[in-house]
Amino acid sequence: MNKEVLIIGGGIIGLSTAYYLNKEGHRVTIVDRSDLDSGASYINAGYLCPSHIVPLSAPGVVKKGLKWMFNPSSPLFIKPRLDLDFLRWAWSFQASCKSAHVAAAAPVIRDISLLSQALYNEIRQHEGFDSHYEKKGLLMLCQTPEMLEEELKAAALAKRIGLDVEALDIKALKKVVPTTQVNAIGATYYPCDAHSTPHEFMQEMKSNLTKAGVQLLCNEKVVDFQYVGKRIRSVVTDKRHIKADAFVLSAGAWTGQLAAKAGLRLLVQAGKGYRINAKNSSGISIPAILAEAKVAITPMNGFTAISGTMEISGLNQKIHRQRIHAMADAARRYYPELVLSAADKAGATVGLRSLSFDGLPYIGTSSTYQNLIIAAGHAMMGWTMGPATGKLVSEIISERKTSLDIRPFDPNRKP
Ligand SMILES: Cc1cc2nc3c(=O)[nH]c(=O)nc-3n(C[C@H](O)[C@H](O)[C@H](O)COP(=O)(O)OP(=O)(O)OC[C@H]3O[C@@H](n4cnc5c(N)ncnc54)[C@H](O)[C@@H]3O)c2cc1C
Repeated sequence: MNKEVLIIGGGIIGLSTAYYLNKEGHRVTIVDRSDLDSGASYINAGYLCPSHIVPLSAPGVVKKGLKWMFNPSSPLFIKPRLDLDFLRWAWSFQASCKSAHVAAAAPVIRDISLLSQALYNEIRQHEGFDSHYEKKGLLMLCQTPEMLEEELKAAALAKRIGLDVEALDIKALKKVVPTTQVNAIGATYYPCDAHSTPHEFMQEMKSNLTKAGVQLLCNEKVVDFQYVGKRIRSVVTDKRHIKADAFVLSAGAWTGQLAAKAGLRLLVQAGKGYRINAKNSSGISIPAILAEAKVAITPMNGFTAISGTMEISGLNQKIHRQRIHAMADAARRYYPELVLSAADKAGATVGLRSLSFDGLPYIGTSSTYQNLIIAAGHAMMGWTMGPATGKLVSEIISERKTSLDIRPFDPNRKP
């Protein structure tokens, strides 16, 4: 049966969901409180990276967070706060930082990421989609033996679960990037990864959806829900009430707040990330993560993007200049020719990732209301997992067998 579906939040997760629901014949509306031209889905590093199989909640992360707590230019910053939601999330997060969790999560992350990459390729075959996309792999560049050892361990895990990965010494690295000056003692290289220029794909998605009859309501904020029994009847926005048969909550970092209004305690925190666009040609043609600095370098269409930091400091989009300088300095340490102008730095932007407590996304039906589907919590992997998440949500709403086992993504799971 075709349904009336309302999607709350039009980032990559909301748009991908609309794409598949529309294809299934449902009538779809997206409501978003923004202009639909900014935020994480527009300013991310553009990696479609099945290589990132280790979830954020991994052994050692809490220790690093504590070490860096008072360093304003560190790549990971956790602001301690007497806020019950934050404390609940932090407790559950640290409880998930275990090797057994990483071992169980890695194949799950691999499968949803590979499905998503295949779906990106499928979408891109259609008319109206020809934005920047390249499959040149991803380098993890290391400057110290300790980091190289850590990356080699991660590569061994990736290899064990069937991903294509190579260890590169300096000579082999030179062969992969013959014309770029790089300061590194070695690297691991994941040929399975692709990269893109996010705002271009987002634009194409919006045009395609509008042409296909999906309604996009911008600058309209959802503030509450209205219920009848175990079903949501309508959402209340700052302009009106909107009725539907099914509701998808894909509001990124804001999803926890809205889920609470629907009686679901979803452990979500915002993880702020920054991006600087270097307008001068850098000569970099292969994406790379600067492993010690946790900074991502992406050759996008017409500029090089430098992205990074994970600042867990609540739902705010405040820009801390010292982090921008730290990212720019890191980029220069690895790529001496990567020049960032004052204007590039001044134009830096931020986006909020939505962080679940265990590093796996929440995809599934809420236990509180039968017609509320959650699609959030993708952390550093939402760009990669967008189309697969959209397809899974559309299969749930269409009451069809899902392309993957969605039990690991259950939004009602407990720490
Ligand atoms: C610097 C940075 C680099 C990244 N790099 C990568 C990468 O290379 N690869 C990768 O896979 N992932 C990456 N990510 C993560 C990825 O960008 C996110 O996981 C993804 O964009 C999340 O998409 P989303 O649709 O869930 O959320 P968002 O894009 O945040 O969209 C949520 C939408 O909900 C709307 N909304 C919120 N509240 C309401 C409300 N009350 N009413 C109506 N609308 C509302 C917001 O306005 C917003 O438009 C990166 C993130 C950052 C910040």
